[in-house]
Amino acid sequence: TEAALRQAQKMETLGQLTGGVAHDFNNLLQVVTGNLELLQRRLDGNDKLRRAVDNAMAGAERAAMLTQRLLAFSRRQPLAPERADPNHLVGQTTELLSRTLGATIELETIQAAGAWPIEIDVYQMENVLLNLAVNARDAMPDGGKLTIEVANTHIDALYAAQEEDISPGQYVLICLSDTGHGMDADTLRRAIEPFFTTKEVGRGTGLGLSMVYGFIKQSGGHLRVYSEPGQGTTVKLYLPRSYGEIAANDQLAAPSQTPKG
Ligand code: ADP
Repeated sequence: TEAALRQAQKMETLGQLTGGVAHDFNNLLQVVTGNLELLQRRLDGNDKLRRAVDNAMAGAERAAMLTQRLLAFSRRQPLAPERADPNHLVGQTTELLSRTLGATIELETIQAAGAWPIEIDVYQMENVLLNLAVNARDAMPDGGKLTIEVANTHIDALYAAQEEDISPGQYVLICLSDTGHGMDADTLRRAIEPFFTTKEVGRGTGLGLSMVYGFIKQSGGHLRVYSEPGQGTTVKLYLPRSYGEIAANDQLAAPSQTPKG
């Protein structure tokens, strides 16, 4: 649709803008932190100055984290993709995620039998799941449930034609559904935009979903968010099936298409 196309173009422009700034800013930050480190080493005897330098360093570290997320949004983050089993990937984060969610939120993970492998930066993917879990937690202050489901899925040409930025093919779908307060249409429309947040100052930076969006796109995948007020939120991550070398002990059927890459 035209609205979706306009939105995609807006995100593209925003990405280019923030990416350029974040990249330059990051280089400048490295000059700052490099010199602060030097000072930290030299100021051992002087507690007062030492504290001032430590404070400056803590600020610089927060700024570095922010630029990291902006680089992720603008798809300029260096990635280290590796072949991974999505079941395993989700499985190994459940402990961290349940700790993040707290005692009042139930976490259920549903794995896919014979899940296709994916090619992904595992560390960043865990970061993505953590960010989405934090959003789910914030949407369920009185408790609730987060379900994470892994499934193999096929996007056909018909479906792809309706959506702006999905190409047909085989994907692993990682779907996160919460029973939280959900979003109204206006919030949903803007949720992925960088710096858009409905949270209090200091609680949210509005970069969580932007970072997720950029990372998923950079990984060749797609992100879809569905939500209604009072109905909870569903975030769907489509990650392209990897057709790389299949190990002998892998029970996967050989792909019918020409292997990519
Ligand atoms: P932040 O979490 O820092 O606000 P995000 O980009 O992750 O930044 O999210 C932007 C906004 O989208 C949130 O402030 C919130 O209004 C909305 N949102 C994101 N995830 C959810 C969710 N699971 N349930 C309800 N609202 C959400």
